[in-house]
Amino acid sequence: GATVGILGGGQLGRMMALAGSAMGYRFVALDPTADAPCGQVAEQIVAAYDDREAARELAGRADVITYEFENVDADVAAMLMDESYVPQGSRLLHTTQHRLREKRAIEAAGVPVAPYAQIGSEAELREAAARLGLPAVLKTATGGYDGKGQWVIRSEAEIAPAYAELSRAGTELVLEQFIRFDKELSVIAARSPRGEVQTFPVAENVHVDNILHLSIVPARIPAEIQERARSLAVRIAAGLDAVGLIAVEMFLTAGGELYVNELAPRPHNSGHYTMEACRTSQFEQHVRAVCNLPLGGTELLTPVVMVNALGEHVEPLLRRIGMADEAAARLGVEPKLHLYGKHEAKSKRKMGHVNVLAPNVEAALAWITETNIWRV
Ligand code: ATP
Ligand code: MG
Ligand code: MG
Repeated sequence: GATVGILGGGQLGRMMALAGSAMGYRFVALDPTADAPCGQVAEQIVAAYDDREAARELAGRADVITYEFENVDADVAAMLMDESYVPQGSRLLHTTQHRLREKRAIEAAGVPVAPYAQIGSEAELREAAARLGLPAVLKTATGGYDGKGQWVIRSEAEIAPAYAELSRAGTELVLEQFIRFDKELSVIAARSPRGEVQTFPVAENVHVDNILHLSIVPARIPAEIQERARSLAVRIAAGLDAVGLIAVEMFLTAGGELYVNELAPRPHNSGHYTMEACRTSQFEQHVRAVCNLPLGGTELLTPVVMVNALGEHVEPLLRRIGMADEAAARLGVEPKLHLYGKHEAKSKRKMGHVNVLAPNVEAALAWITETNIWRV
């Protein structure tokens, strides 16, 4: 069997390795944290991501290289392309590492994004805020996640402090019109080197404190919008020449318009529901794509709600999952627990998730409420 090298050893790499091991592949992950989630189920090289010696060792041990996080050093990615096979290339990484490059690429694929402006000074921010209107969202072009590196500017008085705060990061900034969305959606597309594209069903995502809380599938939106969302994702995957998975986050307005928020060129938290609920999981699909196998079917087998287990949820969840569950039996739901093997259950840290399989999403949501574990 061939060996797949993964840059990064977190939960996404772990679930990729678990899916790919079942298909006969071996995995080796490069991650600085000893006993990383992926290192527990695969081989691991413990070293910094930008350690060139370690990257060279990874290249030597792997037949194909992928990544599970998007802030891989572009120089390291380029070096790996010389020394091993990196089917995803480095261009998509380069594009998605920078919000402005990403937005331009999405627009070039013929897909709408929220109106935005590149910001290089406080004067430019003032001018753009006047043009786009307030509220507006100021974001660092690089490095943000879980809402970090963002400021929702609600009044003119916030322009100066927002600029002072975010410009400290030393990266370019982007101002986006605030979209009064009705729902947040995501679609994960897979594209193989031979150009085959498949999309998974649309997820309806609910965030709490900018961290994904729920993915509800099927999304509670008309079929026509689901079709449109999936075709936008196909256009992006093909237009950006993606290989492997590309997750597309979108806003849906009350008027039925879709705007793409951002992309992730990797498995995505909002695709964890596929693990039991789809014919093929996003992780298997990613391995298929980067290994140039035919892609798997993406049909939804059952309604599902994915709920994230953060550090503060782990203890009550473990207690709950070990008991006879009257509510689950009554509602006809089946909660499937996934834990990532992280050692420290810090607050807000993603420790695992539960895929609540159900006859309908309302029953899954009722179970989540009744457990009293997630108080939102
Ligand atoms: P992630 O953890 O998903 O990578 P991130 O830090 O990169 O998050 P975004 O996805 O850009 O940040 O924004 C986080 C959340 O903030 C969005 O899911 C959405 O709820 C809200 N948000 C971001 N941009 C806008 C916008 N232009 N209009 C309205 N809400 C927005
Ligand atoms: Mg992001
Ligand atoms: Mg996001």
